[in-house]
Amino acid sequence: MPAKTGKQYIEGLKKANNNVYIQGERVDDVTEHPAFKNVIKSMANLYDLQYEKPEKMLYTSPTTGDKVGMTFLQPRSVEDLIKRREAMQEWARTSGGMMGRSPDYLNAEVMAMGVNNSLFAEGDPRFAENARNYYEYARENDISLTHTLIHPQVNRAKAQHQQKDANVALHLVEERPDGIIVDGIRLLATQGGITDEILVFPSTVKKAGELDDPYSLAFAIPNNTPGLKFISRESFDYGKNDWDHPLGSRFEEGDAIVSFENVFVPWERVFVCGNSSVCNRTFKETNAVVHMAHQVLAKNIVKTEFVLGVALSMMDAIGIDGFQHVQDKGAEIMLTLETMKSHLYRAEHNAKLDKSGTMTPDFAALDAARNWYPRIYPRLSEIIRILGASGLMGIPTEADFNHDEIGPIIHRGLQGKNLEGYERVQLFRLAWDMTLSAFGSRQTHYEYYFFGDPIRMGMTYFDNYDKEPYKNYIQDFLKKSTGVKASN
Ligand SMILES: Cc1cc2nc3c(=O)[nH]c(=O)nc-3n(C[C@H](O)[C@H](O)[C@H](O)COP(=O)(O)OP(=O)(O)OC[C@H]3O[C@@H](n4cnc5c(N)ncnc54)[C@H](O)[C@@H]3O)c2cc1C
Repeated sequence: MPAKTGKQYIEGLKKANNNVYIQGERVDDVTEHPAFKNVIKSMANLYDLQYEKPEKMLYTSPTTGDKVGMTFLQPRSVEDLIKRREAMQEWARTSGGMMGRSPDYLNAEVMAMGVNNSLFAEGDPRFAENARNYYEYARENDISLTHTLIHPQVNRAKAQHQQKDANVALHLVEERPDGIIVDGIRLLATQGGITDEILVFPSTVKKAGELDDPYSLAFAIPNNTPGLKFISRESFDYGKNDWDHPLGSRFEEGDAIVSFENVFVPWERVFVCGNSSVCNRTFKETNAVVHMAHQVLAKNIVKTEFVLGVALSMMDAIGIDGFQHVQDKGAEIMLTLETMKSHLYRAEHNAKLDKSGTMTPDFAALDAARNWYPRIYPRLSEIIRILGASGLMGIPTEADFNHDEIGPIIHRGLQGKNLEGYERVQLFRLAWDMTLSAFGSRQTHYEYYFFGDPIRMGMTYFDNYDKEPYKNYIQDFLKKSTGVKASN
């Protein structure tokens, strides 16, 4: 089947009738529900964009000859990597990078696990085959995916098997001739319930010991599998128009707790079954983390461009661009953007073929970027807040501007240097929705945490960093310092 259209994505969700709950109710049809329908439209637009820009967004499937999504491409050359990244950035631009889970993020994951599947054979030769088949299935059917990696936050000081109720977390219940039964809770599925299938994989960061083997699983199942429930947090799409909530009204992806009640997973969808050793190595040895980090960096370059555009427009709007500290804050965003672009260039141009023949970006550059951006993004948000000041609270709605009596007052009263009140407030509402609204606050939280706890990622980064050359450099330098004072 060729790549999906938006209509097919929406029809697929209607037909699937996934078990989604929100605010104490089961959702009848996510595509019509106020919490989900707008982001579903935005996702549908992404699928439609594949056909609006086919040269950029589609390629010919190596197995069927159909036109499939470019973001599923197994890159074989640096040119392929760039082509795939340009498709990813095309999608990111539609939301200013505010949709962390445009489908490309997990498309890159299934591709990497599908082509670098030999690790899974350590558990069972079938599992490697399953990973390859799943990549092809996802690509040929343009499957939209969510994923869940984290055990519930019960007691982080203990391993899973030591928890007071060890069966709370998703675990293996039974192996049967036709598949496995799993039960328990997993966190946190962004876009849970509004995608076709769910990937259950181990954490990218947290490692498990052998006694946690029953929790060490990887598989993929349709989101309407019996026993599977998505328990969504309340929505930050408050049903406002695009003018009032320019981001939250369109790109609120939602996050869900995932409950598995004795869920059956057929063997052909299992990649890891009760094997902590394979789980601990999955993201690294399949290079999935590399290809996902490539998508993240590509997306976050677009996001930083968007933040910079908003900051510069605000400076112009209220005439603050001449002040020294304002310029310095603008420069901070510019430096962030340029640094991210340099990481991307190095990642792509130092790429090498891995053992599967996949052109694999330089992870040193991507690892630096993915460890750094969570630390810097809160600062970008803070800069917008500092620049906007009261302007981020003096934000009447479009209805206020349309009101006969108060409309003219605010249109004049809230004018900017070169803008009327209506235009200035529209811009400042965008800045507010990006940083201070519930939607904006989640963006900051998302960038900080979605790839794993940045503290532990930083610890791993420090551990793995090749420190010897730098220590040796200092040793050599000190050895050459003889202690004899230079004569004048
Ligand atoms: C908006 C958002 C969307 C997300 N979407 C997804 C998704 O789609 N799929 C998915 O699988 N996950 C998702 N996540 C979850 C994300 O992967 C986790 O938040 C992240 O891995 C951190 O794990 P945790 O939340 O369990 O934090 P915890 O591990 O519970 O950490 C809580 C605090 O305790 C500290 N801490 C805990 N243990 C240790 C330790 N051993 N050493 C030092 N410090 C420790 C941490 O540093 C942190 O400050 C999402 C998260 C957010 C916020």
